[in-house]
Amino acid sequence: MSFSFSVQSQISDRQGRSGEIVTPHGVIKTPAFIPVGTKATVKSVLPDSVEGVHAQAVLANAYHLYLQPGPDVLDEAGGLSTFMNWKGPTFTDSGGFQVMSLGVGFKKVIDMGGDSLNSDDVIAEKRERLAHVDDDGVTFKSHLDGSMHRFTPEISMQVQHKIGADIMFAFDELTTLHNTRKYQERSLERTRLWALRCLDEHKRLTDERSTKPYQALFGVLQGAQFEDLRRKAAKDLGTMESSGIEFDGFGLGGALDKSMLGTIVSWMTEELPTHKPRHLLGIGEPADLFAGVENGADTFDCVAPTREARTSAVYAPTGRFNVSNGTYRRDYSPIDENCTCYTCSNYSRAYLNHLFRAKEILGSTLATIHNLHFIVTLVDRMRDAINNGEFFEFKEEFLSRYQARSITPSS
Ligand SMILES: [Zn+2]
Repeated sequence: MSFSFSVQSQISDRQGRSGEIVTPHGVIKTPAFIPVGTKATVKSVLPDSVEGVHAQAVLANAYHLYLQPGPDVLDEAGGLSTFMNWKGPTFTDSGGFQVMSLGVGFKKVIDMGGDSLNSDDVIAEKRERLAHVDDDGVTFKSHLDGSMHRFTPEISMQVQHKIGADIMFAFDELTTLHNTRKYQERSLERTRLWALRCLDEHKRLTDERSTKPYQALFGVLQGAQFEDLRRKAAKDLGTMESSGIEFDGFGLGGALDKSMLGTIVSWMTEELPTHKPRHLLGIGEPADLFAGVENGADTFDCVAPTREARTSAVYAPTGRFNVSNGTYRRDYSPIDENCTCYTCSNYSRAYLNHLFRAKEILGSTLATIHNLHFIVTLVDRMRDAINNGEFFEFKEEFLSRYQARSITPSS
């Protein structure tokens, strides 16, 4: 087995730490931001560019790759890393999130201010619900062609083993913050039983495919905004053993109340074993990354930096702004004067403004390179700050300038 994790430095009085994850395809120094390559491609950029922004790993999605091109193709091609020509470590999420959020209009981070709904059947208006959960698994309709499919913990493990990522996630039930307490309890138990089944099937497949590089399995913790449920999930999965194996790490999952994000992460990390890595699923906005790192999350993934880039929203130290805005038509400065990325080294805001307005695909490519560089570097700087004992100074310095939803120019 060639998977391990070691802690390097600790943030004083917090669960946050720096460390190192070793996988068969290389090392990930943590904390680290992991770019999302949903369908085995980080949209609009070459793997060389992903490497160029110093990203250490890529996270793909089991649901999308299961539907297209199918796990057998990835298996035959030699696994995700070889198939997409990304030389470093890879992750796949279990597919549960995509399957269960089909048609639900699911939001990962929710501001809980105002009236919160209490429904176990919250779906986005006028959208057909495409997934149905039972105790054994989930039946869902493909968003591509409407065909019917079924995921169970065993099938998710089989799909993820064929895809061949270094780090996989157990199949879990996704709930929203709007589900009732009673439903959250029932769901948590279902996720616990599914976690046991994932361990069993993972062990079976690891033995059966013993010539392949070892794939690590992370258990996923749910529990929404309830402290007792989050702590229970962490204790249950943190000590879980089946077929003689344990989880290699943990995914901190589910919907998170934005104002409570750091606190909710700390409920889980206080209960989890400290010698195993933790991945905070689907989180990538700067303030949320600081909260996650401070409270003990080691790795992060999020579509935001790449998705926003394709809509011409770019990150700067003072906040995000829209480079296709008319203000930048004759702005010959780079997106960020101090940024060392390929885009800022070679192109102006005016050029990006032109590309987006002319609907040239290079606009998406250049903005994606910059946004990934910005977020990857931000988390890299958090790691350096932890190692130098200056995490809180760096957090204060960065967040005092950064406006979460700024659309004003950065200089
Ligand atoms: Zn840049």
